[in-house]
Amino acid sequence: MQMPARADDFDLGRLQMKAGEGRRLELEVDLGELRLADDDYRPEPQVVPVQLDLSRTTGSGWALRLRTRAALQGPCMRCLGPASSVVEIDAREIDQPGAGEELQSPYIEGEVLTLRDWAHDAFVLAVPAAVLCRPDCAGLCPRCGADLNADPGHSHEAEVDPRWAKLGELRFDAD
Ligand SMILES: [Zn+2]
Ligand SMILES: [Zn+2]
Repeated sequence: MQMPARADDFDLGRLQMKAGEGRRLELEVDLGELRLADDDYRPEPQVVPVQLDLSRTTGSGWALRLRTRAALQGPCMRCLGPASSVVEIDAREIDQPGAGEELQSPYIEGEVLTLRDWAHDAFVLAVPAAVLCRPDCAGLCPRCGADLNADPGHSHEAEVDPRWAKLGELRFDAD
């Protein structure tokens, strides 16, 4: 079996495809660094196999589809424990020279496809809104920070009204 070729930048021109032709390529791409919120989340693995479908359109255009998957790893947004969620990527790009601006792909410069940037952006767009260690993660106690997953019965004494607590601190001088 042939190993997929690493293709952070991919030269479309060398495929010599004619209008109406289509190809499917198995490549490898580096998804790059990723920062979400103030915490460090990263794709795992960072270099992923991708399936790239290419169609040559009339007028030297391209219709492209990129499919891959990677896990997003980082701290659980509720309990800060290690979490990982699978991100499925299925992205499309159209590049039609001479057509309107919305038909120009930002990832195609001349005949070179910047596959790395495309895959990185598609990964970021596909990232779930919440990264959790498990869907029903109980999170941390808002009062003391205890991990509620480890201690489901965790509770505190009912809060004393702070005015009564202050009264309890008052001292009256006897004389
Ligand atoms: Zn969690
Ligand atoms: Zn607590």
